[in-house]
Amino acid sequence: MHGDHVLGVPGLLLSLSLSGRTREVQLLGPRGLRGFVESALERMRAGLTFGLEFHEARDGLELSMCGATVRASLGRHSAPNYAYRVEFRRPGKFHPERAEALGIPRGPLWKALQAGSPISVGGRLVRPEEVMDPVEVKVSIAYSGDTRPTAGLIDLFRGADILVHEATFSWAHRRKALENLHSTARDAARMAARAGVRYLVLTHFSNRYADAGVLLEEARRVFPSSYLAREGRTFSLAPEGLLLRDQPINCRVHVARLYPQDYRPQR
Ligand SMILES: [Zn+2]
Repeated sequence: MHGDHVLGVPGLLLSLSLSGRTREVQLLGPRGLRGFVESALERMRAGLTFGLEFHEARDGLELSMCGATVRASLGRHSAPNYAYRVEFRRPGKFHPERAEALGIPRGPLWKALQAGSPISVGGRLVRPEEVMDPVEVKVSIAYSGDTRPTAGLIDLFRGADILVHEATFSWAHRRKALENLHSTARDAARMAARAGVRYLVLTHFSNRYADAGVLLEEARRVFPSSYLAREGRTFSLAPEGLLLRDQPINCRVHVARLYPQDYRPQR
């Protein structure tokens, strides 16, 4: 619940509302997030064009949201900090010959099994795993939040495609990192190496580093597949590797639309 992690949430929601979103938004965060977001929106007298659903994080939580499987794990920081792992999964291969052997007619029942629902045929229950290979992970992304390195987090990050890890300090300022319960770039790189992730994206830099390049160099000495997060930078996982694309940020704000009730003619 530190300001640098939550103050932007109401603004982000308002931006989504201004761009006409109607689909519900799900939020996952520590206790207190819901009260903070709801009271900020209420104080701004800002209505949203969509509903919000809140999920409270706790250590070991696993839930399905937005078509992904999300896990949370408590890190070590001066306030309760959760690290997350998000996995997008795809169903395993469907075997038509197995379905036929079980006497399941082609059509809606096949579709239901492929969508992961059990079906009933001739009074017998057939589970999807009888005709499908196990679910595969399509892509997995882990995020550290603010934390010292911990063994529990290595478990959470294990084998992830991308680990987004804080790197507030350089190794030269490791005492500061210890005092403030943050990580150095080298700490982040060691976590990436121990967890066996594919790519490391460093973020959350102290503003004492005018050029975060020093943090990148430090991390790459330990974990060569390290990259820097930057405003407007997109990372795409492609067969040939991690692709980076930089683009300018659109910061336009439509004030009149932010507060529609203030601009409505009074009756
Ligand atoms: Zn922070």
